Amino acid sequence: MALEIVQVPILGDNYAYLLHEPEENRTAAVDPGEAGPVLAAAERRGWTIDSVLLTHHHADHIAGASAIRAETGAAIVAPLADLGRIENVDVAVSGGDTVALGATHAVVFDTPGHTSGHVAYWFVAEDALFSGDTLFSLGCGRLFEGTAEQMWESLSRLRSLPDETRVYCGHEYTASNARFALSLDPENPDLVARAEEIAQLREAKQPTVPSLLSVEKAANPFLRADDPALAARLGLADSPAAAVFAEIRRRKDSF
Ligand code: ZN
Ligand code: FE
Repeated sequence: MALEIVQVPILGDNYAYLLHEPEENRTAAVDPGEAGPVLAAAERRGWTIDSVLLTHHHADHIAGASAIRAETGAAIVAPLADLGRIENVDVAVSGGDTVALGATHAVVFDTPGHTSGHVAYWFVAEDALFSGDTLFSLGCGRLFEGTAEQMWESLSRLRSLPDETRVYCGHEYTASNARFALSLDPENPDLVARAEEIAQLREAKQPTVPSLLSVEKAANPFLRADDPALAARLGLADSPAAAVFAEIRRRKDSF
């Protein structure tokens, strides 16, 4: 399935996305934190946005949704748990639901931790994961409304997806995430290689997103909280993975 995915840089360091399904000529926008650039990117390609998929209620992900809906008639798809704090929701979704986009579809995962209602959208046939502020390249979202246990479980669920999954996350935070990851795990060859690639991409003013899930599994410390060597390095040998994850998150918060 040839789903066309267009990355739209918005605000300071957010990414919105346009997904175009050519067979039935359907287009979705993911996390439009502002409307203008997303509408313009669609218009340039002659696409009409039919649906807006939202991962969580933070303004930098949703602020353009209602304007896009007003302009195009698009249906807003949002987490059921966020119904009280996102306006104009047409379709409420939660884990296990599917969201159609023409002939293709996404599976919804509940991924609480950054926020209590956060969801991710996995386009199965296209190996594309829209992870919002749950999973970043070499990082993860801050714990604003959830516990470390919840976030570890959410990340573990995403980590179980196929290696070839491309991770389309909500922010370009990768360079600073790489500095933190290297401080924990300086001799991890996959991390060192990814950090070099990131430096080159940023130097060339290129996005580091999407990343490949196989690389995240090997290099992202937040996906490696159950790695005994990393736990030992943190002085937490034999601790539960969620406790190791909590310590990594704490260190990142004050890095
Ligand atoms: Zn957020
Ligand atoms: Fe965000």
